[in-house]
Amino acid sequence: VGGIIMLLSELSGVGAKRAHALQSAGIFTVTDLLNYFPRDYDDRSNVKTIAELTPDAVNTIRGTVARDPESANLQRKNTTSGASAGSFAVTKVIIKDKTGTLELIWFNQPYLSKVFVKGREYIFTGKVREILGRGKSFNGAPTLQMQSPDYEASSNKELSNGRIVPIYTPPKQFTQKTFRALIHQALDVAKNSKKMGVKGASPLVSFDLKSLDLAFLDFLPEIIKNKYDLCDRETAVCNIHFPENDELFLRARKRLVFEELFFMQMALFDIKGAVAAQTGVRFECLDCGKFLSVLGFELTGAQLRVLEDISDNVSGGFKMNRLVQGDVGSGKTAVAFAAAYLALINGFQAALMAPTDVLATQHFFACEKVFSPLGFEVVLLTGALGAKAKREALAKIADGSAGMIIGTHALIQDGVQYHNLGLCITDEQHRFGVNQRVTLTQKGEASHTLVMTATPIPRTLGLILYGDLDISIIDELPPGRQEIKTYCVDSKYRERINEFIRKEVEQGRQAYIICPAIEESESAAQSKTELKNVLNYTENLSAVLPEINIAYLHGRMKSADKQQTMDAFKAGECQVIVATTVIEVGVHVANATLIIIENAERFGLSQLHQLRGRVGRGTEQSYCVLLTDTKNKQTLSRMKAMTQTTDGFKLAELDLKQRGAGDFFGTRQHGIPTFAIANLYRDMKILEAAQEAAQKIREIPLPPHEAELLRKRVSHQQAEISL
Ligand code: ADP
Ligand code: MG
Repeated sequence: VGGIIMLLSELSGVGAKRAHALQSAGIFTVTDLLNYFPRDYDDRSNVKTIAELTPDAVNTIRGTVARDPESANLQRKNTTSGASAGSFAVTKVIIKDKTGTLELIWFNQPYLSKVFVKGREYIFTGKVREILGRGKSFNGAPTLQMQSPDYEASSNKELSNGRIVPIYTPPKQFTQKTFRALIHQALDVAKNSKKMGVKGASPLVSFDLKSLDLAFLDFLPEIIKNKYDLCDRETAVCNIHFPENDELFLRARKRLVFEELFFMQMALFDIKGAVAAQTGVRFECLDCGKFLSVLGFELTGAQLRVLEDISDNVSGGFKMNRLVQGDVGSGKTAVAFAAAYLALINGFQAALMAPTDVLATQHFFACEKVFSPLGFEVVLLTGALGAKAKREALAKIADGSAGMIIGTHALIQDGVQYHNLGLCITDEQHRFGVNQRVTLTQKGEASHTLVMTATPIPRTLGLILYGDLDISIIDELPPGRQEIKTYCVDSKYRERINEFIRKEVEQGRQAYIICPAIEESESAAQSKTELKNVLNYTENLSAVLPEINIAYLHGRMKSADKQQTMDAFKAGECQVIVATTVIEVGVHVANATLIIIENAERFGLSQLHQLRGRVGRGTEQSYCVLLTDTKNKQTLSRMKAMTQTTDGFKLAELDLKQRGAGDFFGTRQHGIPTFAIANLYRDMKILEAAQEAAQKIREIPLPPHEAELLRKRVSHQQAEISL
């Protein structure tokens, strides 16, 4: 049966216009159509008799048209002047069943009077109400009315009534009803083509994943279906579109979610396996003693454990590909530097890529402080460098005199030639695309990869999002940290907050204030309710607290100006910074003890948590104030969660629950697989099962036919993942 591509134009009711609309929605073949799942369902399976109808609710009813439909044009009267305000059509149909009669009414659809035929049976779904002023038996006239119902002739294949009805996001040129009918037609076509299957031809002969027969072709090995109690693909596809009952729907969904997650995980494991099997440079010496002695603090147990994972990888002869995950302030930088030190003492270069100039520069100075005394040269490479400085940096990178290289995206540009790169580190990985991480690694032929992220992700999810990486977790904060106290207040507290800022500064501390907008016009354009903006805020606060030096920072400033402002803040020359979220990642000033987040309702939990992580980095008590006037319940519950826990993992799970995985990482996150049906939060249980299956399947001998199907399906999946 292989290789028959059933095109949409072969379906009846699909002309050029509709075919085009379908293609715009990513639907090119019948199989695509069948993989276009409903977004919701409406349970219209409970068909009532007229006597059983519930007023003021949506009901489904089957009945026979009792008389010829009537359509009348009524004048609309202007209520004050009494003058005519145009006319409108009212269409009435009376239906009956063995328990009574019911009036159906539609407005402005006069053609309906020609649709319904006296004596024929139809099925309707709509809201029912009592007709005012009509007693129980008003000459046998109906006392109930159904308004603007959905209708369909009675038959043995009703699609929109009398069943659980699928609700789609119909492509242009389609209504719910016409799209439903098209899907139903496609199901019939797929079933028939299966029956007509070419004898003797194996589905693998000319295997094409777009071909018709694949809609029902079952790629899952029997043993997996049995173990996880999954139905076959045909049953699943039929029941995801037109569920026969709740139970079959649930089984269909389980099967399809499992399948989607299973193949994604298989593909990611395969990619990981392929990378892990690549020869990597071998670091012979693993003695970090000297480095640790100049570091200025003892590594925590968690940091040491992660360093051990890294040491094992880099000395094993294969490429390391490891993600280090740790909450804000857990000390990922120290671990990264330790790994870089290993590269340096083994004669290799190490590169560290950060998402912003500010962060790269901060890493540069921190790194120099440790590495210079050890005799290694550190260079900084960012887009902000002048031409001469850049030339010098590039020369040192190329001839190997710079062992440690720190920078932004500039590190992966074409002109950068490395001498012998042994380790590539990406900080704040969630800010980069997968491609960028990979590009950096490719700058060194057999170099190791270490990526760091502070976005806490539940482990199962990590396996999907970073499925090609091994994961280490720093689950312990350096000693001496005090829990940050978090409050959520509204703008009535503004004076008290200003007073709070004054007091903290008086005691020698510093503060961040975060506003969502840069300037006024922008804040007005973004939202009807006024958003706080950096420029006005700085001006106003300077007027209120003239004795305090207040600076501002935002993404549209020149790199050098940003840097100057950060430097002044670090040096304590200014005590308060009003900023946009440019300071969200990684900025470290231990003396800052207060962060105020204006319009806190604008930020997601993970982002609030990141922002809060800018304080509490020293030993002093720190505070986070969330300011919002929102009354929105969901937003307020987010704020409450912030005041109740500082555990990034807990917050991440909550965030995921509230927003779903897509939004969770924001638009900046690349390389997140998108799913047709799985919901990474809701389907966590199935995800766990699919991951277990993906791990175990390798050790199970499969019948050759099944093994081949599986292999092809997984390699197709790999091609879909954009690496
Ligand atoms: P993050 O994990 O958010 O990147 P950083 O690496 O910036 O955290 O570390 C936060 C602060 O904690 C830095 O000032 C760093 O010097 C300090 N630090 C890291 N590890 C330790 C440790 N084991 N003991 C004491 N301080 C530490
Ligand atoms: Mg960091």
